[in-house]
Amino acid sequence: MSTPVIKCLNVVKGYSEGPQKVEVLRGVNLQIEQGQHIAIVGASGSGKSTLLNVLGGLDKPDAGEVWVNEKAFSSLNDNKRGLVRNQELGFVYQFHHLLPEFTALENVMMPCLIAGVKKAQAKQKAEALLNKVGLSHRLDHKPAELSGGERQRVAIARALVNEPACVLMDEPTGNLDTENAESIQSLMKELSAQLQTSFIVVTHDLVLANTMNQVYRLEAGVLNKQGQ
Ligand code: ADP
Ligand code: MG
Repeated sequence: MSTPVIKCLNVVKGYSEGPQKVEVLRGVNLQIEQGQHIAIVGASGSGKSTLLNVLGGLDKPDAGEVWVNEKAFSSLNDNKRGLVRNQELGFVYQFHHLLPEFTALENVMMPCLIAGVKKAQAKQKAEALLNKVGLSHRLDHKPAELSGGERQRVAIARALVNEPACVLMDEPTGNLDTENAESIQSLMKELSAQLQTSFIVVTHDLVLANTMNQVYRLEAGVLNKQGQ
């Protein structure tokens, strides 16, 4: 059996609001295999973004562990965790978070350059991915010169450029109309079939959620498998 790409064990995470402590995650367990796609659904405020931030190493759990490709991710120091994040994970957010002064091509090249890939090779990889997401005619456009769907496709290309084991997406289609949301969906499927990428997608969109291998609901601080 292959080792899981991401595993979390009894993850607990809360926030202190003055004297008050808000417990958001109360013992989350999850395991994602290579090439697996899962959706996480749940009410607004249920802790979906908090969970994704802990899984992606943007935030540390108060208790419990996160493992990424057999590395004790949540116990690594900031530098080492940053390296694993850059090389093994990809991120797509509701608001694309592209760098406004850079072109689509430069935005996609960026994680590659940070990983130490030579410029010519980074350019080649970024061009190939932008081509794959249907944006070969928009390489030199800046984010402000692109439509919402195009920006999100650039963000997906950027998330995939280092060939991560797993891509974490927080409401990737939340700001898109149905047509654009559907093209992002099929794009994700196609890319993961080619690259064996795993996806963890937080979404309100039940149509998108039901295209995944498994749907989990985050409720009262724990994850429950749906449809079983
Ligand atoms: P979701 O993504 O499911 O809408 P979040 O993970 O963003 O939920 O938030 C879960 C809960 O944690 C909410 O009640 C929210 O107000 C609280 N929360 C999130 N981030 C912070 C923070 N940085 N400081 C304090 N409370 C926070
Ligand atoms: Mg959220």
